[in-house]
Amino acid sequence: MNFHIITLFPKLIRPYLTESIVARALHRQLISVSIHDLKKYGGQRYRVDDRPYGGGPGMIIRAEPVIQAVTEIKKDLPKTRVIILSPGGKEFTNKLAERWAKHKQGAPLILIAGRYEGIDARVKKILKAEEISIGPYTVTGGELPALIILDAVTRRLPGVLGDDQSIEERRVASHEVYTRPEVITVNDRNYRVPKILLSGHHAKINDWKRPQVKKN
Ligand code: SAM
Repeated sequence: MNFHIITLFPKLIRPYLTESIVARALHRQLISVSIHDLKKYGGQRYRVDDRPYGGGPGMIIRAEPVIQAVTEIKKDLPKTRVIILSPGGKEFTNKLAERWAKHKQGAPLILIAGRYEGIDARVKKILKAEEISIGPYTVTGGELPALIILDAVTRRLPGVLGDDQSIEERRVASHEVYTRPEVITVNDRNYRVPKILLSGHHAKINDWKRPQVKKN
């Protein structure tokens, strides 16, 4: 799958792509990531941002540079999915990540990272984009949300994780997990692994895990 990230801060994106599962997926050409610097679009005469109509603090990212960037990216591409990262958007979930990972194997995802007070609202309509939020809180820019989506989708692509069963949602995976040693002693108190996990009884272990699994 090809990811395109449009951002005012390209340097924030690159480090995350250099380690672990995402780096391996890139190395094995299971994904590609193109980073597009928004400052290069919209013409030299204008700033990328401007003051908000109606007043208020902060600046708004102008529509033209974003539209120009997306139009250029889409020029030679088949069907794409255009996503504007916004705290007011539809909440990103495992289910959405799964659906996008399966979507027409390889259809590119264009992720637009906002900054300041956000992006001119007309962009959504003009580009027929989806607004997506990573959760009910506000972060400083859309770069972390874009990377979260990139990560969650990438790990669901065929061949990225060694074993398909590594994807939590495709098996009974508890958020409550234990490893050696069986007993940890802190301040004279023993902290034990739940007995059921030592029983070797897989059906019962899965029954124990099920209630611990949070709904997605
Ligand atoms: N007042 C703006 C609003 O409510 O939309 C907040 C803008 S925020 C400081 C700057 C940018 O960060 C947003 O344009 C968006 O791209 C990104 N952002 C912040 N929180 C986000 C979230 N929960 N999900 C997705 N993107 C988010």
